[in-house]
Amino acid sequence: MHGLNQDLPLLLSTVLEHGATTFGAVPVIGRYDNDCIDCDYAQLAARARRLATALQRLGYGPDRFLGSLAWNTHRHLELLYAATGIGAVLHTANPRLPPAQIAYTINFTGYQTLFIDADTLALAEQLAPQLPNVRRYVMMAPAGALPDSTLPALLSHEDLLADGDPSFSWPLLDERTACLLCFTSGTTGPPKGALYTHRGTVLNALSAGGGNAWALSADDAIIAIPGFFHCNGWAVPFFGPMYGARLVLPGRRADSAFLCRLIVDHGVTVAPGVPTIFLDLLRHCRETKAGLGRLNRLFSGGTAPPLAMMEAYLRDHGVRTIHGWGMTETTSAATMSFAPRDLPPDQALAAMRTQGKPVFGAEIRIADDDGNVLARDGATPGHLQARGHWTVASYFHRPEIEAITQDGWLRTGDVAKIDADNTLHIVDRDKDLIKSGGEWISSQALEEAASAHPAVREAAVIAMPHWRWQERPLLVVVATAPVTEQELRNHLADLVPKMWLPDAVAFVDELPHGPTGKLAKQELRQWLTDGRLGVAATASAIAP
Ligand code: AMP
Repeated sequence: MHGLNQDLPLLLSTVLEHGATTFGAVPVIGRYDNDCIDCDYAQLAARARRLATALQRLGYGPDRFLGSLAWNTHRHLELLYAATGIGAVLHTANPRLPPAQIAYTINFTGYQTLFIDADTLALAEQLAPQLPNVRRYVMMAPAGALPDSTLPALLSHEDLLADGDPSFSWPLLDERTACLLCFTSGTTGPPKGALYTHRGTVLNALSAGGGNAWALSADDAIIAIPGFFHCNGWAVPFFGPMYGARLVLPGRRADSAFLCRLIVDHGVTVAPGVPTIFLDLLRHCRETKAGLGRLNRLFSGGTAPPLAMMEAYLRDHGVRTIHGWGMTETTSAATMSFAPRDLPPDQALAAMRTQGKPVFGAEIRIADDDGNVLARDGATPGHLQARGHWTVASYFHRPEIEAITQDGWLRTGDVAKIDADNTLHIVDRDKDLIKSGGEWISSQALEEAASAHPAVREAAVIAMPHWRWQERPLLVVVATAPVTEQELRNHLADLVPKMWLPDAVAFVDELPHGPTGKLAKQELRQWLTDGRLGVAATASAIAP
């Protein structure tokens, strides 16, 4: 027997309209290189409705794909709602991917209309000859700002909007309709698509914004640092209207002076991002003696944040870190460490350094090499698997990829331990673990330990082949002050088991990062092979 609650579908348009009617006057602030905007949720929703009708006139609706190659601006945000609200699917292409991979994701999806902005125009012009299906480009820029361009059929977003209908009513779609498509960054083969449903996306934002997670409310202002193309911008586009939080949109820029100014000027309370961004911001604050205004929490994702960084934010700025684990395939973060405000700093930091607990709607477990589920004993590492309302069931148009176990859990490719209370500890990416004489060395734990040295800005650990141990760790460091290999070894000796101590240390000016700001270890391994690290890749591989 069905219950008698109303059967209203969970749709992104309902999130937007909630914002428009309940938090209509809450500001949406856009600050870009050549443009800025102050609007509110009522205006944003009216513009999205106009754009939706314009898209319908272009033939868009259910089962039709279109794309964006753009940074986080209010026009991109209204496109997110307009396209998905009429049942079309928006592929948010990632401008940070190598051009050949961007072209691959667009061609693989196959659509005719691509929205771009002033900061992706040159990239779009470069890509256009490789995009045979794209017949129409739409420039998300102020009215009258249509540039001279080699792009065919370049339309103006504002012109499209001008003819739209602001009183348009959103259709009541099936909540399992696809809405947004994000691709993984493709470090081990071509990028893979995660095709999200309205239902999963709304549930994810509802749960992730809740009390033991981002803890959002109408007192908050969120700066949208993660690109909408990475895990839907970590749900930030939906948090704003859902929780009545102000949104601050920085466009393309992510340099710390700019971010710091936006955070202070607009009373930002929550900043999501990868640790590299937060490390730069911290350095900027130290060098310029800048404060961080009303900022009280970071949401750090994508990779494990260094403890020293979380410590410094807490001590110097009273800013807590919510540390989240997730992947493109889990829509956004699935687990989060949330340290209540009144915890003493040492306990707060102990909580923050774990990947936290699953939020409702996400489940985690670990399994051995044969797929047997392992105990949650906080000690046994295993292959991490996840499932839930917003975890993908397969990859977009890639049925051959066997990512799901027979009983429906996603193989994440991470190795982890789980405590009895379901707290997650990521040990490493499966492929980044160093297997030394039958023992596992966590590159991630070594990186964290090395980063705690005051002269180390960033550290990366990769495996070097070894004649006896199969693999041994190589530490690669960006130093901010003179430090010797021996000093680093002495520092590590206090923090990690002796057999983890790196066999070699290389110093570099910068480490390679991938399109979402994570360490690009694949590239670093190539540097080792090419001799760019000043360490012979085979030095320890051959028996003496
Ligand atoms: P992506 O799909 O690009 O978001 O990458 C997902 C992967 O990033 C995960 O499978 C992890 O390997 C890594 N990752 C994400 N968050 C964390 C975290 N908090 N700690 C450690 N690794 C993380």
